[in-house]
This record gives sequence, structure tokens and C-alpha cells, in this order.
Amino acid sequence: MHSIFFESEDALKTWLTENGEKPFRASQILSWLSKPGVTSFDDMKNLPAGLKQKLSSAFTLRTAQVVQTSQSPWATKALLKLHDGETVECVMLTDDKGRHTVCLSTQVGCAMGCMFCATGQTKAESGKCFIRNLESEEIVEQVLIFQDLLHSQTTEPDSDRISNIVVMGMGEPGLNLDNLLTALDWLSNHLEIGARKITISTVGIISGIERLAHSGKQYHLAVSLHAPNDELRNRIVPTNVGIGIQNILRAADDFFDVTGRRITYEYVLLGGVNDSPQCAQELAQILHGRNALVNLIPYNEVEGLPFKRPYPDKIDAFVRTLESGGVQVQVRKEKGGRIDAACGQLRRKNI
Ligand code: SAH
Ligand code: SF4
Repeated sequence: MHSIFFESEDALKTWLTENGEKPFRASQILSWLSKPGVTSFDDMKNLPAGLKQKLSSAFTLRTAQVVQTSQSPWATKALLKLHDGETVECVMLTDDKGRHTVCLSTQVGCAMGCMFCATGQTKAESGKCFIRNLESEEIVEQVLIFQDLLHSQTTEPDSDRISNIVVMGMGEPGLNLDNLLTALDWLSNHLEIGARKITISTVGIISGIERLAHSGKQYHLAVSLHAPNDELRNRIVPTNVGIGIQNILRAADDFFDVTGRRITYEYVLLGGVNDSPQCAQELAQILHGRNALVNLIPYNEVEGLPFKRPYPDKIDAFVRTLESGGVQVQVRKEKGGRIDAACGQLRRKNI
């Protein structure tokens, strides 16, 4: 069985005709797909019972199940069980204006092995940290799950609308771009979440950055840098050994030249590891003259990993050094922290 999400209207018309149904049903079916609360073919009220039956034997509409949620006023996190029993996490953040942002996962696990990251350091039963790429429908479903949840909790019009997406959950988007871009296209066509409202975060996969630069879409690019020099970055982001900071900066500069969109550099602050004034100075030097924003993320501690969040005065000093070096900087607010919203922590507890 395959997902109904990516059937074209023409293909669906052909399928309907072959199955003794009227082709005009195709547009009815497609218009249900993005409606909040429509989680099975049975919910498609204007279809005859026989057709609903045929659709559910031929196509899937939901392949993932929510097995656990945790909620705070600003963040809701869901652990999803996929059709093969694997699990991934997704999170919805709600700001003070009531806007909802969904944080998507792109892979089950991750092969990049960042030393501080729950996803990169959690071995599944097989002993591996990376299991598989997510299919496009599994990416789309993460957004629909939150839309359904909001719909069940509210009656106000439009308050179930998801307005932004950040691809900052489990996995490395740059290594599953085909499926991710198919999913994002679907989401912009059906839920009107345009590329400008979508941020894709990468550890620095050069081919991925190049492809995004030339995708013709105005995605926002975030690059997870975490260190100002290769010696330190190689230690905390092992995949950097084959990449190198200069190559990442060059690809990001090209992205900026092509799209005109400012790059965000993410920098997880790890106490005593990459939070020194020297690191801040070096970072200011390598970013000098670039149209860049540094997003400092005070580390969310992960059970079993040796890293610590820096003391607040260290964070303040890091910010001041960057600012005096002429670099734009912000410190990420941590609405997800208390519910283990950082990458892969809920799944880690379940494995
Ligand atoms: N693989 C991609 C996207 C997913 S991770 C990437 O690395 O960019 C999204 C961001 O969360 C990355 O910047 C990552 O380094 C950061 N992150 C991972 N674990 C974290 C933790 N425990 N605390 C704070 N940030 C974390
Ligand atoms: Fe993978 Fe990103 Fe975690 Fe690194 S930080 S292991 S790239 S998910």
C-alpha cells in the first residue's frame, strides 16, 4: 500500500475509473487530505461507503501513531510509532501570539554522531544510531498530527493552523533531501506553509546546502556550527573531519548570494568545551563581514552524556564578545527544555 498524499489528481481519476468509481471523486478526496481531524477514509463525509472501503484497501492516510505526548503551555511533544515499529519525535512550539511552529524529524536516528546529541548518541537494539530515512508521508504526517491535536482542543477558527516549520528534530535533513523536499512541497501546497516560513537546519552537508541554494525556493538555512575551528569541531561534530568549516562557510556564502537570505549559525553552548571568550572571539573573526545571525543554544543536558550547560554569566559574556566583534546574535529561548524537547531525548528514554 502506498500513501494517498502524493497521488496526482489525474492518477487518482485513473484509479477511480479502473475501480468502477466516478472520476470527479478525485478532487473531493484530495480536498480532504489537509483537513484537520480527517485521520481515516471514513472521515471523508461526502464519499460513498463502498469507495471509502476501496480507498482504505489501496492507500494509507496515516502510517504513524502517537504513542506518547508531553505538554507544557508552550510546547507539545509527540513520540510517534512508525509502521515498522521504529519511533521518532516531533514537537510543536506555540509563541505568545498563538502562532504554532512544528519541529520535524527527517530520519530515525542519525549517523552524524555529534557527541552531545541524544539522537546522535543513542544506539537502537541493532547497536546503530542511524536506522533509516523517513518517507515523505512520515514527514507530512508529523505536521498533520499536531493540526489534528489542535483541532480536537479548540473551536476557534484558524487556531489550529500551523504557520511555521523548523526541520530541527531527529536526523540530518541534508541526507534525506529528496523525501524532505517532496514533503515540504506538499505542505506548502496544501497547508499554505510557504518556503519563507520553513527553516532547514543542517550539520553542514555541502551537497545539501548547494541543492537548497538552487532549489528555487526561499527556505531559511540554519547551519549547526558549534565551534569556531576545525580542531574543536572535529571533536564534538565528528563528521566535520570530512567537511571542514571553510567549505561550509563557502557553501553558505553561495546560498546567501543565490537566495539573498541571511544564514543562521547555530552554536550549542557546552560548558567548558566551546564557551570560552577565545571561542567567541574566533567565531566573531570567521563570521566577520558575513550577513549572519548566530543562534546560541544553551545545552539541554542529556542523561548519560558528559556535557553541561554553561553558567549564565558565561553565556552573557559570549554574547557580548560576539556583539563587540560586529556579529548579530540571539540566545534561543528554551520553551521545549523542560519537556525534553531537545533533539531525540524522549525517544532516548524509551529505548
Ligand atoms: N541534524 C540537524 C538538525 C537536527 S538537530 C543539525 O544538526 O543541524 C537541531 C539542532 O539542535 C542542532 O543545532 C543541534 O546541534 C541541536 N541540539 C542537538 N542536541 C541538543 C541538546 N541536547 N541541547 C541543545 N541543542 C541540541
Ligand atoms: Fe545528527 Fe543533528 Fe544530532 Fe548531529 S546534532 S547527531 S547532525 S541530529
